Amino acid sequence: MHIAIVGAGPIGIEAALAAREKGHEVDVYEAGAIGQGMRDWGHIRLFTPWSMNTTVRGRKALGLDLAEGCPTGAELVEHYLAPLGDRLGVHEHHRLVAATRGALRKPQEIGGGARHDTPFRLLFDTPDGEVVVEADALFDCTGVTATPNPAGVGGILAPGERAAAAAGRVHRGFPTLADLGPGRIAVLGAGATGATHVTRLRDAGREVVWLTGAEAPAFASPEDDRLPERRALWLAAREARDAVEWLADAAIARIDTTEDGLVLHLADGRLTRVAHLVVATGFRPDLGLTRELQVHHCYASEGPMKLAAALLSASGGGGDCLDQTSQGPAVLVSPEPRFFVLGAKSYGRRNDFLLQMGFAQVEDALSLLG
Ligand SMILES: Cc1cc2nc3c(=O)[nH]c(=O)nc-3n(C[C@H](O)[C@H](O)[C@H](O)COP(=O)(O)OP(=O)(O)OC[C@H]3O[C@@H](n4cnc5c(N)ncnc54)[C@H](O)[C@@H]3O)c2cc1C
Repeated sequence: MHIAIVGAGPIGIEAALAAREKGHEVDVYEAGAIGQGMRDWGHIRLFTPWSMNTTVRGRKALGLDLAEGCPTGAELVEHYLAPLGDRLGVHEHHRLVAATRGALRKPQEIGGGARHDTPFRLLFDTPDGEVVVEADALFDCTGVTATPNPAGVGGILAPGERAAAAAGRVHRGFPTLADLGPGRIAVLGAGATGATHVTRLRDAGREVVWLTGAEAPAFASPEDDRLPERRALWLAAREARDAVEWLADAAIARIDTTEDGLVLHLADGRLTRVAHLVVATGFRPDLGLTRELQVHHCYASEGPMKLAAALLSASGGGGDCLDQTSQGPAVLVSPEPRFFVLGAKSYGRRNDFLLQMGFAQVEDALSLLG
């Protein structure tokens, strides 16, 4: 079977290795360079160790011994993903624009029928122009970090946010220190990414105002946290919160761009002036890529429905992400035959995806293909 795998992150690469092992013909397509998603946050250290971020299969293919400690994103790409991707012949700089099923439109052949015998049809943008590719099975491993959430109250753009971004003063994702110009910086978001930004900026001597939402950040980590890097991050975050200006219960209602920076108007009337705003409000899956396919998504998380429901009932929306167990092959099935969303994208807007879960999904999806 010819499998098209879109996204050469850790899960796309693992899926390709496993599928080849099973005798499938595999092509991996990546919008940027191999591991581009991780390269974008290469300066950040993972809180899980090498043993959890790599697989026996991958290490064996490269003849690698298990290293100690936790890698940065860049280290994982350099020593693991890039050499594996080179062996797999990843088609770099192939950005999926849209996927469909032969000549079938979305409303046709509901939940199966001719869909079973019709190859996928994928349109890519490449440096040499547009390319159309066919495949018998499709694994969407495109992650979520290419589509960050906006800054505004209620999860939509704040009025003025686009103008501020066009002026180069709004930074999404994972800006490095060098990306941020001089002056006071606002960081919006109390998750691990926001905490990482605040601690790094503070350590670099930058003046920071930290905006966190309605739920006061707990920054909690038990003394016996199974992941010491995670505990270290939260302890540093707590310390940083007390050292920087902290605006709790903050929702950005409007952003004005001035000659020397931004005025952030909060919903409760407070305002703060900064040179730059770093938005760390999480990510959302790009559902547009597979809009023509028959996939039902959770109305809250935007993950594929069956997996989303299983995750919700397993965790109740909380708990330690390390306690997750694989949800099994059945929840990966959607109405679209031989189509699977794997990796971080399969969790939709949830922020508790771990590579270990994605590696298990790879085995599950391939078991369904036979
Ligand atoms: C800062 C940060 C720290 C994290 N730390 C940990 C950790 O310690 N432990 C852990 O288990 N998990 C961690 N995660 C969560 C998760 O494991 C990672 O996000 C991981 O990179 C997900 O792997 P993935 O292969 O699903 O997606 P990604 O690594 O995001 O790979 C997706 C790839 O698809 C490509 N792509 C996107 N759109 C297209 C398109 N249209 N066409 C072609 N290619 C496309 C992207 O360029 C990217 O290279 C972390 C996440 C972040 C953001």
